Amino acid sequence: MKNYDLVIVGGGPAGLGAAVKAYDEGIKNILIVERDLVLGGILNQCIHNGFGLHRFGEELTGPEYAQRFIDQVKQRDIDVLLDTIVLDISPDKELTLMNQINGMFTIVPKAIILAMGCRERPRGALNIPGSRPAGVFSAGTAQRMVNIEGYMPGKKVVILGSGDIGLIMARRMTLEGAKVQCVAEIMPYSGGLKRNIVQCLNDYDIPLYFSTTVSEIVGKDRLEGVYLSKVDDNMKVIPGSEKYFECDTLLLSVGLIPENELSKSAGVKLDRKTKGSVVSDRLMTSVDGIFACGNVLHVHDLVDYVSEESEIAATNAAAYINGQLKEAKSQKVEVKAGTGISYTIPQYLHYDTMPENLTIRFRVNGVYEKKTIALYVDGREIKKRKKKILAPGEMEKIDLNKEDLNPEISEIEIKLEEI
Ligand SMILES: Cc1cc2nc3c(=O)[nH]c(=O)nc-3n(C[C@H](O)[C@H](O)[C@H](O)COP(=O)(O)OP(=O)(O)OC[C@H]3O[C@@H](n4cnc5c(N)ncnc54)[C@H](O)[C@@H]3O)c2cc1C
Repeated sequence: MKNYDLVIVGGGPAGLGAAVKAYDEGIKNILIVERDLVLGGILNQCIHNGFGLHRFGEELTGPEYAQRFIDQVKQRDIDVLLDTIVLDISPDKELTLMNQINGMFTIVPKAIILAMGCRERPRGALNIPGSRPAGVFSAGTAQRMVNIEGYMPGKKVVILGSGDIGLIMARRMTLEGAKVQCVAEIMPYSGGLKRNIVQCLNDYDIPLYFSTTVSEIVGKDRLEGVYLSKVDDNMKVIPGSEKYFECDTLLLSVGLIPENELSKSAGVKLDRKTKGSVVSDRLMTSVDGIFACGNVLHVHDLVDYVSEESEIAATNAAAYINGQLKEAKSQKVEVKAGTGISYTIPQYLHYDTMPENLTIRFRVNGVYEKKTIALYVDGREIKKRKKKILAPGEMEKIDLNKEDLNPEISEIEIKLEEI
């Protein structure tokens, strides 16, 4: 196996965007490793539109968005290994790979970009009481069955979880002729984008019940129905509130988990909140020369931001390979998630090596109305922005200008305040 300067793990939009950018930054010896048979990642099964509004100023389907990047990869001399899985990454950047043609083999590149995306949280993580009949699927599995394999999982559907995949699948199943009884959401707010609630539920008269969960699954061989119950403020089922819904299919859309098993084996430090790597403003992880971007770093709402992030990781990986990534001399400055903020990316920066303009992405930890997003540097407010509504489903950002900082800064904090 030829050796490479840069290996990118994952051929979804993050991996593709990173490969194109790194090539254009002068790295000509790049390999993308993808375990699937095709490039494009999760976008291949997202045949709805709504992708690319920020990036291309037009509404594309998932496969169309992915194809634009696949074409760019093909126009460059970038190697791609499909149907190949990365089994392990060691702290000294040795990748162990396996496929049917080469068997098991290793590569030691100068730098690695992690772009493995995320996976769905399974039923096992929920502990729903009841039997174990056929008919319980994760929403992403059902999406693949309907959009790629051409199978309908069922005809009468209840969906648990109002994240974007659950919302999109409510509409998809309806368009394919199923009756979607309702979407139940355990939180008092949706984890999905507002536009998806309007376009996927409201437009099809599909009810959305908040503070509600599945309290029992009924059925022996095939699912026959579920009991939905209200939950209290501690998310405990309220006895006596249960209501029976007949259905042959229960779709679970109960969260995404960044795929970080390889990051762990490489010794990369993970963030308890994002379940992705802890990264600097260069999107470099705690392991020298290993960078991360896309859903493996934190779950994104829009792919356009995945592409932006992949380019930052690639630019820094290219500089690292070329020996042009200056070593940071100034102290590590934490970017703190203050009141109302769930996490920030990056989690820290160095004043002397940070870019002139740094975009900090974050999510809020609840639904808030009429708040100010405030950016503090060592207790001094340097930026604020009013927002009418903030919800965890929508990723937020704030730009930090280096000229607003001084070389001695020790802490940056983002928090929500009353207007
Ligand atoms: C149902 C759904 C609806 C969405 N709707 C929208 C929308 O309307 N608009 C929008 O902008 N965004 C939407 N998104 C978000 C967007 O699709 C994602 O943010 C984006 O696809 C993430 O890109 P990624 O490259 O990080 O991950 P992925 O697309 O998941 O790619 C990761 C790739 O890594 C590969 N991989 C993982 N581990 C290994 C390994 N060990 N070895 C080799 N390969 C590996 C996987 O096979 C996969 O191909 C949606 C997402 C979903 C799931």
